[in-house]
Amino acid sequence: METKKIIIAIDGFSSCGKSTFAKAIAAKLGYIFIDTGAMYRAVALYALEHGAFARDEVNRERVEALLDEIEISFRFNPERGASDIYINGVYAEERIRSIEVSNCVSKVSSIAAVREKLVALQQQMGRDRGVVMDGRDIGTVVFPDAEIKLFMTADPKVRAERRYKELTAKGDSVTMEEILENVISRDEADMTREISPLRRADDALELDNSYMSVEEQMAWFMEHYKRVVE
Ligand code: C5P
Repeated sequence: METKKIIIAIDGFSSCGKSTFAKAIAAKLGYIFIDTGAMYRAVALYALEHGAFARDEVNRERVEALLDEIEISFRFNPERGASDIYINGVYAEERIRSIEVSNCVSKVSSIAAVREKLVALQQQMGRDRGVVMDGRDIGTVVFPDAEIKLFMTADPKVRAERRYKELTAKGDSVTMEEILENVISRDEADMTREISPLRRADDALELDNSYMSVEEQMAWFMEHYKRVVE
């Protein structure tokens, strides 16, 4: 008998390892992994490159006007075992991860029209279920009916260290202080924005992975998964 396909929604703070964990779950279950943060980052990158920012401030009208010309798509990259993001057909996976984009993405993600467009796209991508989607509002707004909802947290210092290692390994020149500040200010902006703020859904399971390996997180998750699908 085929196991029923479900939606697994993973929300939580910045740099908690949500995507790493979501990707591992998707690989284990043969599900599609969707990184919704990448979609907000793609819009932020496009906005940055098309004059929607002046002195760190976002021009909302300009972003709204640009939205219609942004087409976001994913293509599976077997080397990474995950999908890379493309903006209007152009590869953008690496550019969306820069500290410049991290520093401005929360300003773009708080714009209602941006959220409407991306939420609709995410709902479309998950309509056949069998997806693991990570973000900030998946269990609360995008798929409030997801069969499994996780809310991930970790100590901010542990999170900044992980992000620091990731970026310096790629050759980016960043400081620990800069990253810690970005992680903290992004959490604050994401939790206090008016539309779809980051919060734990009432029926989400909380996972603090500060001192857990991916294997340990997976063992914990599989226990729960089996109970849900059986
Ligand atoms: O997950 P990641 O850290 O790449 O997300 C980047 C930013 O995109 C977040 O700080 C947040 O402002 C925004 N975001 C969001 N809703 C989501 C996913 C990400 O607002 N579902």
